[in-house]
Amino acid sequence: MAYQVLARKWRPRRFADLVGQEHVVGALKNALQQGRLHHAWLLTGTRGVGKTTIARILAKSLNCENAENGEPCGVCSSCTQIDAGRFVDLLEIDAASNTGIDNIREVLENAQYAPTVGKYKVYIIDEVHMLSKSAFNAMLKTLEEPPEHVKFILATTDPQKVPITVLSRCLQFVLRNLTAEQVFGRLQFVLDEEKIPYDNNALQLIGRAAAGSMRDALSLLDQSIALSSGEVSENSVRQMLGVVDRRYLFDLLTAIAGQDNAEVLDCVQEMSAHSVGFATVLDELAALLLELAVVQAVPTSADPSVGDIAEVQKLAQQLSAEEIQLYYQCVINGKKDLPLAPDEYSGFLMTVLRMLSFSPLAAREVKIDQQIDGTELSDPK
Ligand SMILES: [Zn+2]
Repeated sequence: MAYQVLARKWRPRRFADLVGQEHVVGALKNALQQGRLHHAWLLTGTRGVGKTTIARILAKSLNCENAENGEPCGVCSSCTQIDAGRFVDLLEIDAASNTGIDNIREVLENAQYAPTVGKYKVYIIDEVHMLSKSAFNAMLKTLEEPPEHVKFILATTDPQKVPITVLSRCLQFVLRNLTAEQVFGRLQFVLDEEKIPYDNNALQLIGRAAAGSMRDALSLLDQSIALSSGEVSENSVRQMLGVVDRRYLFDLLTAIAGQDNAEVLDCVQEMSAHSVGFATVLDELAALLLELAVVQAVPTSADPSVGDIAEVQKLAQQLSAEEIQLYYQCVINGKKDLPLAPDEYSGFLMTVLRMLSFSPLAAREVKIDQQIDGTELSDPK
């Protein structure tokens, strides 16, 4: 059988299988249960957070022959045909590739006729903001006096570009980016089901790299499986993402906190020799500092399944809360400065040197009665 990409194979087919977006799913299920159905919904959010997936599940629920509590049954002919992408009363338009009025007009002209087999004729228009002005006007005519049997499910990454006349006729839902933990949990589930071995640390890395997009996370997972011949190891994911081994980050922070300048420089040079991307290193460093701050604030929050949790805990004990905050600020500012630096290496090194020179330890080491070099008063005699 041909390999099916994970994002497709594991696309949720019921509301219950969705990760996140509980606020949207709850509202939609309530409306379906109570039969309070709007005629147009607008789902907004960044790519890969579940807009089209929710739209398809909603289309199924609307047409399912035995929907229960707003969930489609998944086995009736409407559900199976929608899943197979050949339900005649569901029209999916990708406005990013079909902006011409002809297509939309054709589609809307058919809207007045009753559905052929289903209860509702459902129009899913993806990236609806890409429609031309005349296409919007054509759609507006149907939206102004929508036939009972017509439902629009619009999706967009850019709601600001949707005309207000359309917006005001839609029930709008804002989808949130998924958290790294939500992505992590889903990746674990998928790999367990696929019986593919994995490192938890590798999944954490993918979870962070996906920046809230489940689709991106699953594509990265596909890539990493292909790269490492059937398993998802931390090493291969690091190589794939250009992410530095966390050991370097622990060493680096320990050296900075201990004001060990030579060791700090060694660390940075060694990372450079491994040709890591320093922009990614700064991201990883910020993520590690956040972890340290959380573990320090709430020690019970430490997740024992994370491979290097012992090192995180150790470092959290060595650093003060102020140091962590200060380093975090340096790292975040370093990210901002990186494009302005002569090159990534210099930009990163400067950030690290800044952390060293601002380290509270440097200040702490000057004892209250200690003479600072070069400030001796001449003998008053
Ligand atoms: Zn069904």
